Order: sequence, then C-alpha cells, then structure tokens
Amino acid sequence: MRPESRLRAVVGNWKLNGSLSTNEALLAGLRAGWQGASGALVGVCVPSPYLSQVQTSLSGSSLAWGAQDVSAQQGGAFTGEVSALMVAEFGARLAIVGHSERRALFGDTDASVAAKFGRARAAGLTPILCVGETLAEREAGRTNEVVSRQLAAVLDVHGANGIAQSILAYEPVWAIGTGKTATSAQAQEVHAHLRSVVAQLDAGVASAVTILYGGSVKASNAAELFACPDVDGGLVGGASLVLDEFLGICRAL
Ligand code: PEP
Repeated sequence: MRPESRLRAVVGNWKLNGSLSTNEALLAGLRAGWQGASGALVGVCVPSPYLSQVQTSLSGSSLAWGAQDVSAQQGGAFTGEVSALMVAEFGARLAIVGHSERRALFGDTDASVAAKFGRARAAGLTPILCVGETLAEREAGRTNEVVSRQLAAVLDVHGANGIAQSILAYEPVWAIGTGKTATSAQAQEVHAHLRSVVAQLDAGVASAVTILYGGSVKASNAAELFACPDVDGGLVGGASLVLDEFLGICRAL
C-alpha cells in the first residue's frame, strides 16, 4: 500500500517542442483545467528559453515548472550550457536529470548525471532522476542490473538523503515515444526493485520517495499504472503537449 504521505506527481516533459504562442494556449488551459489536489504535484519541464514565459503564466497557480536538464558545471567557460542556479532564478522547482535521450544522444554518463543531480539540489531544485533499460537490456534479463547501476551512481555520491529530496522516474527506453507502454506489472516490478535498492541504505527514504513511471503514458492507461502501489505518477512526454490528454493523466493521480 502507498503511504498517504508520499507525494504523487505528474510532470510533463515538453522535450524540444513549443513556441511562444502554442505554449501560451497550453499553459492557460492547464491553469484553468488543473485546480490542484492534495498530496499531488503537477508540473511541466520546458525548454530553457521558455522558463520566463512559464514563470509569468503559472506564477500563483498550483502548477510547478522546471528544466529538462542542467549543467554539471556551476558556471564559467561552458558555451551553450544552462546552470541549475539560472533555472532556479525563474522560480523553477524541478529539473530532469539523466533522461535517456540525454544519455543516448548527448553523452550523459552515470557520473555526469550524478554531478547534475548535485547541482540541481544545491540550487534548491528537486531533481527528477531518470533511469531505465533499453529493449536489448530487458531482453537479456538485465533490467534490474541497469537501473540499479544508474541509481547507485547517484546514491554513492549523494546518499539516501539526496534521494529523499528528489523524485525518481523509471523510464524504460523502449517505451519512450514508441506508443509501447510497460504493463502495470512490469512497471510495478521495477519500481519495487528501485525502492529495495534505496532501502539497503534507508528504509524510511525508500518508502517515502516518489517514483514516477514514464513511457507512452496516456489518459487511457494512466489510471491503471498509477494504481500500482509503487507507481506514484508519471513523467509524460508526447501526451504533455496535448491539453486534454495531459489533464486526463493529471486527473488519474
Ligand atoms: C519522456 O520523454 O520522458 C517520455 C516519457 O516520453 P513519452 O511519454 O512520449 O513516451
């Protein structure tokens, strides 16, 4: 059973999508359509140039916002990077770190993800740490080994205390943007495993930490996934760009 006090959440990951005008319509619709729910967080992680727009549109609402990545560096000669401190200046609460697209396409490693996680925390943001296996890794029976390694890389540096102030997201790479959702049984199994890894260090943190599922979550499958005792909500890509779909997912919390 899920402890009452554990935060449930739905966070949209807009990826490399949006424009000032389409964002405005989506944000106004979210603001009007989501009144908040006790013990639940709803937020959007947007491309960094839109943080100012999101801050203006969502300030004073129950919605949170954040970035999709932050630099592993604090500041200095790192052209093109965006620091966690800069993101925090826009009133952001959230920062995704270790998304599989960053790991696969932009060279993020377990070590750099741990550094980004630390920068996010130090800036007062809640990191959303993504872990997940590829299809080949799942078929080779290596799912638990892969997600344990990705989680341990952060636990080793930041400890259970670090995890206590974060959100975890299990995102099987084969389910992201493919329309193939993990079954609720598959999601539950990996979420319970992640909790067991944290429990080796601190059982209280393991039971309290929010673990989201990500991978083709839609309004039509959210309720079944979120009913699993260790699935505390969703990290949502494609469907977060479609107002009614995203609101439908939020209402499944
Ligand atoms: C994601 O990018 O984090 C994600 C889960 O994408 P989608 O919902 O489109 O599968």
